[in-house]
Amino acid sequence: MTTSASLPADPAPPASGGRSVTDRLVEANRQYAARFADPGMDARPVLHVAVVACMDARLDLHKALGLELGDCHTIRNAGGVVTDDTIRSLTISQRALGTRAVILIHHTGCGLESLTEDFRHELEDEVGQRPAWAVEAFRDVDQDVRQSMQRVRTNPFLPHTDDVRGFVFDVHTGLLREIDPAS
Ligand SMILES: [Zn+2]
Repeated sequence: MTTSASLPADPAPPASGGRSVTDRLVEANRQYAARFADPGMDARPVLHVAVVACMDARLDLHKALGLELGDCHTIRNAGGVVTDDTIRSLTISQRALGTRAVILIHHTGCGLESLTEDFRHELEDEVGQRPAWAVEAFRDVDQDVRQSMQRVRTNPFLPHTDDVRGFVFDVHTGLLREIDPAS
């Protein structure tokens, strides 16, 4: 790799009879749909909660939080960062679909801890334009959760900001550790 804007290459996934990974997933969906029974729900989350979390593949939100189909809104991105687009989703979640509580989940070993804002400059050098977005890299995951809680609590578009809690998920133990917003 010539630039740290690119992550180290992973080995290719095991070949599966010449099928792409998407083909495998589409086949899995056919099997899912064959067993699927329409629960007859509407779009409002049963638990009136929205979860904002990192996209990390090791975090299975539904299993980790004991969630069932229809329970919550799930908003995920790199880092579980409260960006303008996260606020867009939370605003729709609260104002149009009835959620009240917000749970923020970062995790140990996040890829954003190994990046810096230099990532943007390296991208600019490579492709000739600077991305409009911030990388939102961080060094201290606890502090980043606090910042995320603060962004939600102070956002003028969100009518429900009194039940906002933040956690760090340990990818080795599966446990959540709550972050005190005041520390
Ligand atoms: Zn992460």
